[in-house]
Amino acid sequence: MEKLIIANWKSNKSVESAQNWVRELSEYIANSKFDSDVATLVLAPSFPLLSPLAENIKENSLPITLGAQDVSSFPMGAYTGAVSAQSLQEYGVEYVLVGHSERRRHFHETDQDVALKVRQVLDAGMRPVLCIDEPYLLSQAAAIDTSVYSNLIIAYEPVAAIGTGQSMNVGAVQEMNKRIAQIFGEGVPVLYGGSVTEGNVAEYLLVADGALVGGASLEARDFTQVLAQL
Ligand code: 13P
Repeated sequence: MEKLIIANWKSNKSVESAQNWVRELSEYIANSKFDSDVATLVLAPSFPLLSPLAENIKENSLPITLGAQDVSSFPMGAYTGAVSAQSLQEYGVEYVLVGHSERRRHFHETDQDVALKVRQVLDAGMRPVLCIDEPYLLSQAAAIDTSVYSNLIIAYEPVAAIGTGQSMNVGAVQEMNKRIAQIFGEGVPVLYGGSVTEGNVAEYLLVADGALVGGASLEARDFTQVLAQL
């Protein structure tokens, strides 16, 4: 099955450095054996970068799909500061991260907020990438309507592995993915995220349907090394 590789830039990059990254990545793609049938590349920048990147990707017909790192739990309307799923969809966003642990930790997002976001993303015709970790796996699953489980992509992101260089043992990831499949259904893709690098991505892709890459996606050079392992 085709793998999903998501670059999560988090709250990083200027317009200029983002465009340079895309240029370097497209040079790599043009000059390498990268096969877009092997992996779908999703770039999840901060909201203000979506528009300039969408234009660049379209103009140059690049095999990059846009993702968003978050979304409002409400539709368009009087919700100051929020970015609705409908707006994201207009920029060509196809995947939306929901419930990232950094959103839970720094912005106090709850299982209920995340469930509302899943609904918004699906209603706008995009795919939610639901980030979970062991402590809230069951409560988060319970907050989401079981009828939409088959439309989810799950990202197992153990908090202890995020940004620490302490990537999770592959066997433990495999065990967790089995539990996730028991809860959400066998057909639901499960990605792994947490200190993924060029050195470990190949192992994770043996047991997961893709990877969510944070730190190792920030420099195009590092990210191309990750892609080179696919
Ligand atoms: P790192 O790859 O920097 O550990 O970040 C992982 C992550 O949070 C991806 O969403």
